[in-house]
Amino acid sequence: MTLLEPNPASVDQRIRLITTGKSNDSTCNTDLAAPPWDFDSRPGYGPGSSMGDVIPAGAPRQGTLPAEYREASPEELDRRIRAAKEAMGDRLVILGHFYQRAEVVQYADYVGDSFQLANAAKSHPNADAIVFCGVHFMAETADLLSQPEQAVILPNLAAGCSMADMANIDQVEECWEELEAQFGPLDAPGPDGRVPVIPVTYMNSSAALKAFCGRNGGIVCTSSNAETVLEWAFERGQRVLFFPDQHLGRNTAKAMGVPLEQMPMWNPNRPLGGNDAQSLDDSRVILWHGFCSVHKRFTVEQIERARAEHPGVRVIVHPECPMPVVDAADEYGSTDYISKAIAAAPAGSTFAIGTEINLVQRLAAQHPEHTIFCLDDVVCPCSTMYRIHPGYLAWVLESLADPASTGPDAARIVNRITVPERDADAARVALERMLAARPPAAGGGGTVAS
Ligand code: SF4
Repeated sequence: MTLLEPNPASVDQRIRLITTGKSNDSTCNTDLAAPPWDFDSRPGYGPGSSMGDVIPAGAPRQGTLPAEYREASPEELDRRIRAAKEAMGDRLVILGHFYQRAEVVQYADYVGDSFQLANAAKSHPNADAIVFCGVHFMAETADLLSQPEQAVILPNLAAGCSMADMANIDQVEECWEELEAQFGPLDAPGPDGRVPVIPVTYMNSSAALKAFCGRNGGIVCTSSNAETVLEWAFERGQRVLFFPDQHLGRNTAKAMGVPLEQMPMWNPNRPLGGNDAQSLDDSRVILWHGFCSVHKRFTVEQIERARAEHPGVRVIVHPECPMPVVDAADEYGSTDYISKAIAAAPAGSTFAIGTEINLVQRLAAQHPEHTIFCLDDVVCPCSTMYRIHPGYLAWVLESLADPASTGPDAARIVNRITVPERDADAARVALERMLAARPPAAGGGGTVAS
């Protein structure tokens, strides 16, 4: 397929049709038709699902992309990316997240979820550079799991994650101190041999939070293995502090039989997180007040409409969706679960999917034997995944392919992501506990009980 041909997997092309009046579909923000460098100097997450979220002061910003990349045609960028990739050969691995735009994913050696991609990085110890076309916490995880001399590159430093930003290390440490005042020493086992609280962080968090978990007897989870990880935590602790995604925590614990009244929410801006001492005493899972703005867009009304318009439709949503949406769906599961469920379905199936539009549209293009559509009919991609563009990819690849870039410390390597030494070992401990609990190979997910 040439760059000029219609590509059914391309959300970019669809947005351009909308903004030029050639399609009756709608988008949440017509600025999505502009290149992301138009937003790099502005504060905020930029157009897309997270545009209403408040970005923390000090969030990484991307410097100006050189004009030769901003002004290059798609065909020129394509030629330059392919040439740099060929010049690098086996010294380079390009990783593309499921939510990344089709125009970038086409260059990826591996496409997957954040943990699959971090493992792909780990399986190439001889590559000099790993270019991660995803968001910041994913590049950090790849750095943690790759070799010290390998350079992990994030093509646009403004590609953060609004959910990961909703819990920062200062807030979590303050919360921990308040919980210690409430429950006594948090590393002291009670009569049942369990400590008062085990911290559990979702993979979608900074390396500093993973390190916090590593230092404090805690663990990391993914959306594929959250239930296994919570079981691990309940064996060791009377309760869990789960951050940053309240929805994954609530949906998973509810499926395990934890009553909602034993899942208080922790708002970091309020004393005791906005709770009284009794509700914390009674708690099994303390949920951090964080969420993904992509998955928060899905509603029960969308599911009802899909069922009315497509009798027999199979509704699968991601567990980052709010609980009423997960309850109303037929199934819920990680991106890997969704992909495998579609691949295994008999031809002629109809799916309504509640996850990021780039993945849904790609699955629809890959499976013409099915009818697959996004529950949300407004095209609204992840604001931060959107910040990766072929222009940035060409820039970082040509920097790497430059003969002056002979090693990870070479001056021409741009946008390298390195987890500070003070956090790296402790973060790896939390990741290793997760792997020992059970590798996330099963894809996670479940059927919603009616
Ligand atoms: S989809 Fe949600 S959790 Fe994933 S990177 Fe975007 S904002 Fe973060």
